[in-house]
Amino acid sequence: MQERTLFACAGPVAVPIGPYNVVIRAHIETVKLLSALLALLAFFGFATCGFAAAKRVPLPRPRPAEIARPEPPAEASAEEPAPSSACRLRLTAELAVAPSLPALIGPGECNVEDVVRLEAVWLADRTRVAVTPPAILRCSFAEAIVQWVREDLAPAVRAFGRPLKSVDNYAAYDCRGRNRIIGAKLSEHGKANALDVRSVKLASGSVIELTDPAADKDFRERVRKSTCVRFTTVLGPGSDGYHENHVHVDLAERAGGHRMCQWDVREPGEEAVPLPPPRPAAAP
Ligand SMILES: [Zn+2]
Repeated sequence: MQERTLFACAGPVAVPIGPYNVVIRAHIETVKLLSALLALLAFFGFATCGFAAAKRVPLPRPRPAEIARPEPPAEASAEEPAPSSACRLRLTAELAVAPSLPALIGPGECNVEDVVRLEAVWLADRTRVAVTPPAILRCSFAEAIVQWVREDLAPAVRAFGRPLKSVDNYAAYDCRGRNRIIGAKLSEHGKANALDVRSVKLASGSVIELTDPAADKDFRERVRKSTCVRFTTVLGPGSDGYHENHVHVDLAERAGGHRMCQWDVREPGEEAVPLPPPRPAAAP
């Protein structure tokens, strides 16, 4: 009955066990007090922590508006093709079969950009004149060859009553000294700016050698004149002994615009210029 009263009220606990009675009561009071404090602290602590925690929880940020991302700056790439040159734009498929080639790299000074492989020339009447074998040339020089074939060579061949079929390419790009002499100044061939031609072929199959004294002289004279107008260098028989069996044309640039036109159109029996000492390898 006493214990029931004890737990019904909040008063001191009276446990009749001698001296331990006081101790137990004191502990109970302390425990109650501490419990109350702890509860209070817990409440405020929770409230505080909860408030702090509530403050720390980041609020969802407002959704940013859609921002257009700037395009990354365009970077030059080695794989990107170089922009077409003015020559490349002029040398259309209507005029020639001349696909572009990668730049020619060395050795030495033999570096050429804007290079094409001239495979054929289209005449105005859509006749295809092959370049055999195809010639590797810088675009500007290929363009000059195309114009020469279309406007001069093909009309000159009409005298034979057969259309022009092909133009012989004896030498085009070739990294070497002039006349294949080691140590000589770089040939225009090394700049893909020259072409050696031995002959032309007609649709009938006939071959006309440009340096053959037996070939039609009027034709050869006409070709000589046209080449010397179009090209800054023309070397044929009688020039230096290196060009007795072919004609060399190039577009070398010289001080004062100096031009060289050295091609003797010979007749049968005329003396040829004695050849200089033998050159290394089979040379044009
Ligand atoms: Zn040559």
